[in-house]
Amino acid sequence: MGRIRILSDNVANKIAAGEVVERPASVVKELLENSLDAGGADIRVTVENAGRRLIRIQDDGCGMLRDDALLAFERHATSKLSDIKDLLAISTLGFRGEALPSIASVSRLILETRSEQETTGTAVEIAGGKLLRCDEIAHPTGTTISVRDLFYNVPARKKFLRSDQTELAHIGSLVTHYSLGHMGKRFELFHEGRELLSVTPVATVRERAFQVFGSEVVDDLADVGPRTLELRTANEAEPAEFVLEGLVSGPHIQKLNRNSVFLFVNGRLIRDKMLLHAISAAYHNLMPPGCFPFALLFLNCDPSEVDVNVHPSKTEVRFRHGSAIHDFVRDNIREMLMQQRPVSSIPVMPTSPVPRPVMTAQKAAALPFSEFTAVMEAVPVEAPEETQPTRVDDIPEVRWTEPSRALPAPVVRDQVFTANASIRRVPDTHGTLDQLAPDWDRTDNLHALPDLRPLGQLHDSFIIAAGRDGLWIIDQHVAHERILFEQVLRQRAAGTMELQQLLMPLVLQLTPAQQFEYARIADELNAHGFDTEPFGHRTIAIKAAPAGVGAGDIEKIVFEILEIAETELRAASLDEIRRHVCATIACRAAIKVNMKLEPKKIEWLLNALAACEYPMTCPHGRPIALRYSTRDILKSFHRI
Ligand code: ADP
Ligand code: MG
Repeated sequence: MGRIRILSDNVANKIAAGEVVERPASVVKELLENSLDAGGADIRVTVENAGRRLIRIQDDGCGMLRDDALLAFERHATSKLSDIKDLLAISTLGFRGEALPSIASVSRLILETRSEQETTGTAVEIAGGKLLRCDEIAHPTGTTISVRDLFYNVPARKKFLRSDQTELAHIGSLVTHYSLGHMGKRFELFHEGRELLSVTPVATVRERAFQVFGSEVVDDLADVGPRTLELRTANEAEPAEFVLEGLVSGPHIQKLNRNSVFLFVNGRLIRDKMLLHAISAAYHNLMPPGCFPFALLFLNCDPSEVDVNVHPSKTEVRFRHGSAIHDFVRDNIREMLMQQRPVSSIPVMPTSPVPRPVMTAQKAAALPFSEFTAVMEAVPVEAPEETQPTRVDDIPEVRWTEPSRALPAPVVRDQVFTANASIRRVPDTHGTLDQLAPDWDRTDNLHALPDLRPLGQLHDSFIIAAGRDGLWIIDQHVAHERILFEQVLRQRAAGTMELQQLLMPLVLQLTPAQQFEYARIADELNAHGFDTEPFGHRTIAIKAAPAGVGAGDIEKIVFEILEIAETELRAASLDEIRRHVCATIACRAAIKVNMKLEPKKIEWLLNALAACEYPMTCPHGRPIALRYSTRDILKSFHRI
């Protein structure tokens, strides 16, 4: 007798369950998808013992006919697909016909359901894949599936489950995700009788995001789209249409993982590498590497444009026009970010009724001395350059003159830090706010940048400026870096990089790895204003460098670029390599911190920054400007 056997359905189902049912949350996912596919608009999830003891999902969808209720537990039984052609245009979340038999093979399951077309409902009970009973019952239209004692007959699987907290967190995030993806429906999640989530139908993504995350998060989000992309291929009459819509955060919201990125393709929550890359690419040079935004994005298209049958858990998809979709998503987010120009604000202590001690007088006295050099209206009694003050007492006195703009004159007082100051609204005897510029209460963005009035420089590193909307602190190095970065990008694109010829070629010795990278990116280096050529064994000669780069920095820049190419950019696109090269040149050529700037230079810097396309962050993603908004200043002084 041969040794090959056909596995029984029960064994095959358990094997399939290994793929589909990994943990309680996977059961919730499959059942939720079924409820959504059945057109349920009111979906309630009840779990006990983090889903180990019970997972119950109730919906008011179409329900099942009596015959179907039994058939649903057969392997590959589905109402969503009949032909392989259907798979090319699947519009439902499920289609594999695997979930119910798989779940029923590793739990005790009761299905209660009624279709609108039948007057009585059906109850089916199955344990470990064996049918125990099938009865007529009374049931409203819709379906209730109760899954008890998950993995009771697969002890190995049970051992792999994590703590209750972890398993419950997975369930919670799953229901949350689906509720975000289907804002027109009601979702409830209960654990041991406690409500964990309850959202009612709403009309917009923003409203649903508000229900789930609250106003703190939602206020920081900006709308993307709806935007439509039409792709027409030569042999197709109708163009393929893609619609992108959603909410994303500005670059000042920096998450350390991708957990706040929610992507839906045709209502299906997915974790697609290409789309995740498109989002990261939109924030490239705006956020430090390794940081991620908050994003809630919906991409809808004809089902035939996307293959969802890539992975059993259906979380990965493949687009027919992958790279066009990638760029569409990236460009739309980026465009929105460019328009928004949000600014980082200085965190302010909340003015709660019981104030927390901010700082004690002793601590305040122990703070390092802050050197401030004023320009414009402040008239410093300048000390000569050579006698730079080294002690507090030697600091030249700074006298303020009347400011020329509508902002009230700054009042210089001794700062008093008290641990238990009582908080009251300060009455008007302290002056009214009428003198304030009319637009002090502006939203958080950088549109006020062109009108900044520089006040001085702090620590020879930060520019202090008064704006219509508050007090600004600008990091001079990163500001200049951004200006140069955009300039280099522009010149690179136009092929007009300015060069400086070196009197003597600079000869660099490369390691074998650097030699390899050099061969790969030599053209890019040269397009960015370097004139380099191989010069014997593992040696290159640099004959010219981008204008503005100090002689001592040229070698460093080239090595830095080679190193980036070696470590991060092996798989990167040409566009990314270019941006990295530009960022490196800009960083090296930018003015440094600890550098005194002439008032004229400060003014130039602010103007040039205002003219930047994206003046919020340096090419490495650090913020350029902090703003202490007038509102926060007023709040801190308890004037509002
Ligand atoms: P699939 O979803 O891939 O079709 P499942 O095993 O998840 O496979 O479900 C099998 C079938 O059972 C579905 O095709 C559907 O007809 C029916 N079904 C499952 N859950 C529900 C539900 N909540 N309401 C109505 N029908 C359901
Ligand atoms: Mg299903």
